[in-house]
This record gives sequence, C-alpha cells and structure tokens, in this order.
Amino acid sequence: MSQTAEVIMLEKGAGHRGFQPGRISRGEILDLLDNNGLTAWFQPVFSRQTGEIFGYEALARLREKRTPPLDIGELFKRAQAEGIISTLDMVCREHAFCRAGELGFAERNAYLYVNICPATLMHPDHRGGATDRLAEECGIPKERIILEITEQEAIRNYDLFKKSVEYYRRRGYKIAIDDFGVGYGGLKMLSVIEPDYLKVDRHFVTNIDQDSFKHNLVDAIATVCHKLGITVIAEGIERPEELETLARFDIDLLQGFLLERPGPTLSRQRLAPLAVRDDASYCPEAHGESCAIGATVKYLEPLSPQQSLMNAYQRFTEDVKLQGIPVVDEQRVVGMLNRTHFLEKQMVGPYGYGFALSVNRVVRDVLGDDFLLVEAVTPIEEVVRRIKSRRGRHLYDDICVAKNGKYLGTVAINALLEAITQKSIQLAKGANPLSGLPGNEFIQRTVATFLQRKVNFDVCYIDIDDFKPYNDYYGFEKGDMVIRRIGQLIVDIVQPGVNDSFRFVGHIGGDDFIVITRPHASQQICRRIIDGLEGLLPEFHGEREFSEGRYYARDRQGEQRQFALLSLSIGIVSTEECPVNSYAELAFLASGVKRAAKQEKGSAIVRNRRESVRSQGSQEEGTAA
Ligand code: C2E
Ligand code: MG
Ligand code: MG
Repeated sequence: MSQTAEVIMLEKGAGHRGFQPGRISRGEILDLLDNNGLTAWFQPVFSRQTGEIFGYEALARLREKRTPPLDIGELFKRAQAEGIISTLDMVCREHAFCRAGELGFAERNAYLYVNICPATLMHPDHRGGATDRLAEECGIPKERIILEITEQEAIRNYDLFKKSVEYYRRRGYKIAIDDFGVGYGGLKMLSVIEPDYLKVDRHFVTNIDQDSFKHNLVDAIATVCHKLGITVIAEGIERPEELETLARFDIDLLQGFLLERPGPTLSRQRLAPLAVRDDASYCPEAHGESCAIGATVKYLEPLSPQQSLMNAYQRFTEDVKLQGIPVVDEQRVVGMLNRTHFLEKQMVGPYGYGFALSVNRVVRDVLGDDFLLVEAVTPIEEVVRRIKSRRGRHLYDDICVAKNGKYLGTVAINALLEAITQKSIQLAKGANPLSGLPGNEFIQRTVATFLQRKVNFDVCYIDIDDFKPYNDYYGFEKGDMVIRRIGQLIVDIVQPGVNDSFRFVGHIGGDDFIVITRPHASQQICRRIIDGLEGLLPEFHGEREFSEGRYYARDRQGEQRQFALLSLSIGIVSTEECPVNSYAELAFLASGVKRAAKQEKGSAIVRNRRESVRSQGSQEEGTAA
C-alpha cells in the first residue's frame, strides 16, 4: 500500500489554521527541497511547575522571506496532497537535528520535539535507522527526542501504525500526540499509541478562561492523562488569562506565543512567576501538615556524569544500605544509579567481565533516563501515583526531589510510607468518628489556607433532607449507616487529594458535609453525588417504600405525615463570583444558599443564589428543614 493510501488529510482540522488549497504548488515545494530553502526554528516548551525550559519544538521555516508569506501548516498539507510529504518530513527532520546540534542542544538539559507525519512514520524507507543515524551524526541523544505525531491524519492501518510507533519507541524515542482533540484519531489514537506526551490543541486553549466547557474538558483530559501516566502539554497559549487558567490545572507543560515565539536559536528564558503560582495554589494544610514530598527529603551526595564508574562502585561498597545514587549535572538531576542494577549489569555483566570493562567508563555511559524526579511542593499522593505508573524494576527506586528544578535530595520508598502513615494518624485525630472524614477544625484550617493563599475555589454545603424523621422512623443504627454510606459516596466521587490538591471532603457534623473543588468543577461533582444517592435509595428505604416513593413518620410537631425518600440539598459558593475574606463569611453565605436549595422539593443544587438546578426523579413530596 502506498503511503498516501494509509492516511487521509483532515480538512476540518486544517480549517482552524486557515488552509486554502493551492497557495503553494508542488513545483514550489520541490524547488524548496532542491535548493535548500528550508531551515528549523525552535519554540520552547516550559515546565509549569518549575517555569524552566523542558524542551524545544522544532518547526520548519523558509530560509528566505516569501510574499505573500507561507503558512507552514499549509506547506505540509500541500505536500501530503501531492504525495511528497515523506521527503519534506525527512528534510525538515534533518534541519531540526542539525540546527539543534549546531546550537549546542546536547549540552542543554532539555528534550527536542520533532513533528512527524504518520505517513512518514509508516514509510518503509524511514524504518531503516535513518533517523538514528541522523541523530547520532548531529549529536542528539535519542532518549531526548520526542516524536510528535499529528492527529490530523486519519490512520487506516492501525496495526502497521502501532508497529511503526513501537519500532521508534524500542529505539529509545519518546512519543507525543500532537493537536489532540481536533483530529481524527482521538481516543483510539491515544489507546493505540499510549504516548508519553499529549499536546492539547490550541483550539481548546484559546479563551479557556471564558469558556467553561473548554475549561472542564481540558481539566478532565489532564486528569485522565495523569491516570494513564501521560504528560500533558497545552499549546497555543496567547493570553495571560489563558495561562492563569491553565496554571491551575494538572497540565505539566506549556507552550505558546505568550511564553515565547519560535525563533532561530535555543532560547534560555525561564518563567519565574509560574513556579510561584504553583506554590500558591498548592495547599498542604488541606491534606494534613507536611504532606508535600519536600518535607521528607534527605540530601544525598550525588555523582556527576563525568565521574568514573569506580566512584559509584566505591560508594555502593562502602555503604551497603545505599540503594541508589542520584546523578546531577549543573544542579539538574540527569539520572539515578540503582544499586542492584548497577552492580549486576556494570560490575558483573552478563559474562562476568563487567568490572574490567567498567574501569574506563564514566557514569554518563550507563545512565538511563527512567528515574523519578519531582518538585518539592508535590503532594505525597501525587508522588505515589507517579510511582505506581513506573515500570517494573524501577518501582522501588528512591525518588529524586528538586526545588525549582535544582537538585535537593532523595526520598526512599520506606520514608515515603512512613510519611503517609504519619499523615493518616494526623488525619484520624481530627476526623469525625462516624464517617472518618476530616472534622470542623480541619475544615476551617483548610478554608483559611485557601483564603490566605488567595486562590479561588468552590465550596459545596451538602445536607441530607428530612434526616430527622428518617432517623426516628428507621432507627439510629440505620441513620448512622446512611451517614457513613453518603460520606463514602462523596469521597468516591470527589476523590480528595488524588491528582488534585484542591479536592477536599469534610464532615461538618450530623448530616452536613462539605466539599471543596477547583472553581467551575463543583456543579458536575454535585450532580454525580445526587445521582449516586438515587442508586442507594433502595438500600436506605427498603424495596416497598422505595417503590412507593414515600414513607410515613412523625414530623417535628409529632404529627404523623408523609415524607419523600432521602434527597440532598446542596448550596455552592464560588469565591470567584462571591469574594470572601473569612471562614465565617463563607459559612454564612453557604448556609444561605443551602437554605435556598432546601426550598426546592427533592434533591437540588443552588449556586451563589443565582442558578438553581433541580434534580430529576426526586420530586416527591417533602418539607424544607
Ligand atoms: P504544530 O506541530 O501544532 O506546531 C505548532 C504551531 O503553532 C506552529 O506553527 C507554531 O508556530 C504555532 N504556535 C505556537 N504557539 C502559538 C500561539 O500561541 N498561537 C498561535 N496562533 N500559534 C502558535 P507553524 O510553525 O506554522 O507550524 C504549523 C504546523 O505545521 C505544525 O503544527 C505542524 O503540524 C507542521 N509542521 C511545522 N514544522 C514541521 C516539521 O518540521 N515537520 C512536520 N512534519 N510538520 C511540521
Ligand atoms: Mg507539533
Ligand atoms: Mg500542535
């Protein structure tokens, strides 16, 4: 099958870049290729957490100005339509590697993102090691190359595509999906490739601060990707408001004209303010004190990549408890030597000659890049999640910790377990005895910390309607069970602390719960909680009363009357829309909106007194408490 038969260009995706067929001819493209008319520019990709440059995306550019200017995206689309994409692609890669090499890429602690079309990737000519040779000639380590595969072409032969991707991955390249969300492949592409990186297309970033749909979508993509161990990049950031919004999500990497435009050199710029932002939005107190990994770190003398392997051998033999040694170059962690692996592979070796062969080698020669490096402010839960997504033999390796990208020390797995245990004990002390959830003191401290750090959040007050008659009628034991089950339901849906230091669940007391989420995330969560309760009603009321949709009990005046099945009244206060200065002020506002929710029959959500969302299916009779 020919390369053009394998893929179809996506007209829809082309639309947002203003594709106008015919603006560059086949002849002009061939002319550019024949006369060395192209070069590579680079646009930095920044780490959200450290503000430092994580990598550079190589982008094709014309050597000479053209009038009218040429849209580079269009050049690739035209080449695709003309069946010469693979040649163009390979030439551009050559420029990308050569220019990066000339500009001293190898000395930078960064990755190189190169765009590659699926057609080229699957082309038999490109699987003969041409990219390897090119990378080697230009001095670009393969492990630091990320192949960005655009989603804008439909893959017909997924088997071949998967094999092609695997071929590159086996050779050490990392894989990214580009333009995610506007292309053909979508989730199928994601599951076939299982990429290391995913670039959320500019379409979803543009005006994300004003569009709650995009807001929730990107937030959800980031959460899913983290569950899958995929690093997320947001591209096309043009406005400070977009950056501010994205900085609140679990987006790892950021790219766009606002941060830096593509240029002919490898920039050294750093985004200092972002690191501060991240510190500010993280709230350790929300999860118990000292729950950032930084509190557990111990300084361990690192090795440098230039040191002899004999230095490493000496360190391991002198200290038999030493499980790993970090390798640090100019204060950046570049690798980790694992004791067992090092001694078995380097010192013994498959034929027992390892020691002799290692005498003249340096640490850099044996460094793999499979080590875990986290920032000191990272919550412990997040570190655990990252550990779980590691591959087999590295699962129990020590973790390297950096502060603003600079080496700080390491954390051993047993120290991490100890920290988690301590945190659980601390949490248990302030917990509500019935639900085990953080109680009032904890709730107030959490809210106070958020307010102090001036981050916006949503607070949801959740109250069970007509709980007193339920308790009187079904008995305290069953009432306690309901409290526990509803508490657990809320926790299951909110997942406090998992991937998101904003998510918090507390038990105010009695039948009142509190949930804290990022701005805009609360309403959807509350709807899911109400849906979850509907599913529990047969268990709470028994089959007969559930099917009748009501039961009879005494009201507060002692009169026998009809009550609806259990429902929830939820009042949401968003600090973005209703600025507050203290916990007391927030509690006052929240109880006001909760009261408004109580006016509605059945389960209801009221947000900032303005919107009211009535739950379907729970509109039976009931009274406001
Ligand atoms: P892409 O891979 O999604 O690259 C990002 C494009 O967005 C680049 O356009 C970049 O200049 C532009 N960009 C970056 N930040 C912003 C921003 O904040 N706002 C806006 N409006 N644009 C931003 P460029 O260089 O014109 O490239 C267009 C497309 O052409 C690329 O999209 C990629 O699909 C393709 N392309 C470019 N260079 C190469 C290459 O060397 N090889 C291959 N195969 N494709 C390439
Ligand atoms: Mg790209
Ligand atoms: Mg893109």
